[in-house]
Amino acid sequence: MAASETLAMTAKARELKAQGKDVISLSIGEPDFNTPEAIKEAAKKAIDDNFTHYPPVPGYADLREAICTKFRRDNGLEFTPEQIVVSTGAKQSIYQLVQCLIDPGDEVIIPTPFWVSYKEIVRVAEGVPVYVTTKLENDFKVTPEQLEAAITPRTKLIMFSSPSNPTGMLYTKEELKAIAEVVARHDNLFVMADEIYEHINFTGRHESIGQFAEVKDRVITVNGVAKGFAMTGWRIGFIAAPLEIAKACNKLQGQVTSATCSIAQKATVCAMLMDPATSSDIQDMRRIFQERRDMVYKMLCDIPGVKVRLPQGAFYFFPDVSSYYGKRCGDRVVSNSTDMAFYLLEEAGVATVMGSAFGDDNCIRLSYATSEEQLREALRRIKEALARLQ
Ligand code: GLU
Repeated sequence: MAASETLAMTAKARELKAQGKDVISLSIGEPDFNTPEAIKEAAKKAIDDNFTHYPPVPGYADLREAICTKFRRDNGLEFTPEQIVVSTGAKQSIYQLVQCLIDPGDEVIIPTPFWVSYKEIVRVAEGVPVYVTTKLENDFKVTPEQLEAAITPRTKLIMFSSPSNPTGMLYTKEELKAIAEVVARHDNLFVMADEIYEHINFTGRHESIGQFAEVKDRVITVNGVAKGFAMTGWRIGFIAAPLEIAKACNKLQGQVTSATCSIAQKATVCAMLMDPATSSDIQDMRRIFQERRDMVYKMLCDIPGVKVRLPQGAFYFFPDVSSYYGKRCGDRVVSNSTDMAFYLLEEAGVATVMGSAFGDDNCIRLSYATSEEQLREALRRIKEALARLQ
């Protein structure tokens, strides 16, 4: 398998910074906010209350109850605690799901651009990733016709995120319904809905594909606390799945990590009981992300030759920079998204991620989960560096 390019670019930026270089990192998708106070207090209390022993493999009962409450309150989805498995980050949740569901040779449809780890996770399970290419002009969204055309008797799973990493686009209720209708026509086909960016949605409403009766028993909803609650380091993700799948993931997890961290779990109970409709912690972060999005959008639109769409969620831009391919600055030729990411890192001091990591070599990914001041400076540097390419 290939190494994670999001993490590799982040490590590279850290290394340059440690050498004293002035690098602004727009590479990793990580909120720059601190975890809300109430959640930190819950963690401290968990230590004082001696929640320091092995928790149950799929997570504490009160946490799984709180997650069911969250799904009912925020998404209109009904689950029992037995259908919830809490893991060490949504990444582990996705990994276990794919290990449990995919046999060698099973096909997994991954609309492109996709989040970097989907394809490698499928490859480790000896599944066959089937890429369905979407277009910037269509907001990078897959159509029901494209999906139908990609399905074969070997197709077992469709994986996508909405709001999307890396494009920031999201599927409307109608679009999800149309996808659900395609899935419902094929037996044995499951959907992995990655909703980790749920709370970073600028349209006011998050939609889950699991809401549609025709597919409700075939959807595995993945979520976690990293992005919406600024809790990346706590490493908590979870699935809500059909019972047999949850049981399989639970069995696998029992052999792999036993369970995830007891203290982080107790902190997550507090996060799950925060109502996003009233929580100022969640709403303030979203408002700030939206202000940054608007600012970065204006600055990107102002760079000649860059094509960009206005994202509706998450905290990424995925601009098409391919009009600069084939151009040079001194001896340096920029021929693809990897060259571009390294050019911007080394010549402008801005870390991004090459679009090829997400399946689209025309683009690069910029995370705007950093301060307005840093973003302004980063965009100024990018504009100047691109202007030097002749
Ligand atoms: N999901 C984040 C990103 O895409 C974190 C890094 C990773 O796990 O890939 O940047």
